[in-house]
Amino acid sequence: MTSFYKFKPEVTLNDLENANPKLLIVLGYFGLFCQEHTLPCLITSLFTDAVKIRSSSTHRDGRAFDASIRGFTDEDIKMLVEYMEDKVGSLGAISLSDNIRRVVICHGGTARHLHFQVSP
Ligand SMILES: [Zn+2]
Repeated sequence: MTSFYKFKPEVTLNDLENANPKLLIVLGYFGLFCQEHTLPCLITSLFTDAVKIRSSSTHRDGRAFDASIRGFTDEDIKMLVEYMEDKVGSLGAISLSDNIRRVVICHGGTARHLHFQVSP
């Protein structure tokens, strides 16, 4: 059987019981995008595992997950962001920094990753 999603071992899968339903819709579209583009769909962090390393309220509230960008080109990331905004952009959370609603953000820095977030 094909596994569409992979989860890092430190991700607590029971956290999905507390996931905002909108987040599962977003997770579904992310999986679909990866399937259509033959890209890896690796979830690196949900809620309880994320609390230890950062204090993002969207993670704490069950409204965010992170994914690895390993295997993604910059063009893949651009396509993903456009795809997610088109399909489920209205479910995104408003970023505190600039008041803009976003469903996926590519965080830069040394631990570059995708952060998916939904509104309460
Ligand atoms: Zn995150």
